Amino acid sequence: MPKISPTYDVIVIGAGPAGYSSAIRCAQLGLKTACVDNWRNKKGQRILGGSHLNSGCVASITLLESARLYHSVNHELKKHGIHVDTISVDIAAMIQRKDAIIDALGHKITDLFNQYKIDSFHATAKLVKPRQLHLTPIDGSEPYRLDGKHIILATGSSPIPLPYAKVDNEFIVDSFAALNMTTLPKKLAIIGAGAIGLELASIWNRLGAETILLEAQESFLPLPDQQISREAYRIYSQQGMDLRLGARVTAAKKTGKKVVVEYQDQEGSHTLRVDRLIVASGRKPNTENLAAPEANLLLDENGYVHVDENCRTNLPGVYAIGDISLLGPMLAHKGIEEGVFVAEQIAGQHTAIHYDTLPSVIYTHPEIAWVGQTEQALRAMGEPIKIGIFPFSGTARAQASGRTQGMVKIIAHADSDALLGVHIIGSKASELIAEAVLAMEFSASSEDLARTIHAHPTRSEAFHEAALTFKKPMPHVPPSDAAPPKTSKTD
Ligand code: NAD
Repeated sequence: MPKISPTYDVIVIGAGPAGYSSAIRCAQLGLKTACVDNWRNKKGQRILGGSHLNSGCVASITLLESARLYHSVNHELKKHGIHVDTISVDIAAMIQRKDAIIDALGHKITDLFNQYKIDSFHATAKLVKPRQLHLTPIDGSEPYRLDGKHIILATGSSPIPLPYAKVDNEFIVDSFAALNMTTLPKKLAIIGAGAIGLELASIWNRLGAETILLEAQESFLPLPDQQISREAYRIYSQQGMDLRLGARVTAAKKTGKKVVVEYQDQEGSHTLRVDRLIVASGRKPNTENLAAPEANLLLDENGYVHVDENCRTNLPGVYAIGDISLLGPMLAHKGIEEGVFVAEQIAGQHTAIHYDTLPSVIYTHPEIAWVGQTEQALRAMGEPIKIGIFPFSGTARAQASGRTQGMVKIIAHADSDALLGVHIIGSKASELIAEAVLAMEFSASSEDLARTIHAHPTRSEAFHEAALTFKKPMPHVPPSDAAPPKTSKTD
């Protein structure tokens, strides 16, 4: 138990990306800082990093990488003239590797806390009034009080439980347990085709599970640009994912060694028997019991904390950042940015967050990434726009790697030429989007991009070529009256 100081300059509740970034920045700026967190790993031990590191994105991309390698050995090596006689997969070893990686990353945060002299409490905190917390230690010892001049709420989010599909984390599993299954289910169903459902599907489908996604909405991936969503639907279906839209799950029950799932669509009621069911039906902010009723912390009807543009709640000296805040999407990098922003505000610095240039990424195979506005939103607003699209198959690098699926779509203002949105589906989209974010952050026009030299051969050339669409003729595209090529290769 760390030595308890009477009053801290800042107490951060939650050590996920938003919380730990904020605590570290506070300490860097000379503020006396504490961080309270109640996470426990699979072994019941204390670990920092929150759900993002331990049961979310980082855990997920670690397994996605393993699944990508396995799929590659199975399906891509032959094309390179490489033959492997026996291929087998040890899922338990894969999970162990993932656990070792997240464990090491979690300990790195602990080291940083120690190096910056941040007092770290393993407890559940409750805001009893502005500037005062009530801490219940995880080890069962006596609760105590902690005072801070500023309190930063960063408690993150957790899966929304479905009353009709009760999670037992053996047969019916949540998104955390879905990253800890040590055997391959032969037949797997997933409730929800949002970012989490699709990322989990990308892992288990590529490892060989027959994967069925049941999505209540009729439209597929409504958030990204719809041209990209349609392309994603086509590619995922081609990979063997069984995407059932307008399919609302109404009941799920373990029966013997199977899960019986009931769902309804336009054609009526259906029953599905699967080996495992993953519930990925959305997340809710962790604000239940975060504040005592008499503290009067203002929440909306879904439990998100009301904040102003400076992440300030309705209570003096109390801020909310990351997934629990009403501002912006549930994305780790949004939380990190807000954490740093609030720390700097408390230290008297004047900074700003540009939510308009926040990138979004879905870590599937292939990845989807975007920044700015979609074509549909801009058309609905009546903005005059022009669109440049370039397929990755048109770049030498994509052909060399065999990863030719997908495209870059650039949307610019028809009159001013300002970049309004960039949408990518394809291998390494999560990395490529950074260039678009930077361009939009610096208010670039499509001509700025077109005049920027890109290394050849790289995948980033697709971005360049998409901008060149507005400055015809493009070097890597045949004339519009050219005869179609005799051969065309795709992966
Ligand atoms: P989501 O809300 O994006 O998707 C859940 C889906 O489940 C919805 O489309 C919903 O229609 C469907 N659903 C709910 N009940 C259903 C039922 N009974 N039958 C069939 N379908 C049902 O939520 P998520 O994918 O769990 O993600 C939660 C949050 O975390 C989101 O804000 C997401 O953006 C964020 N997140 C983002 C990333 C990323 O960007 N890479 C990764 C993880 C999480």
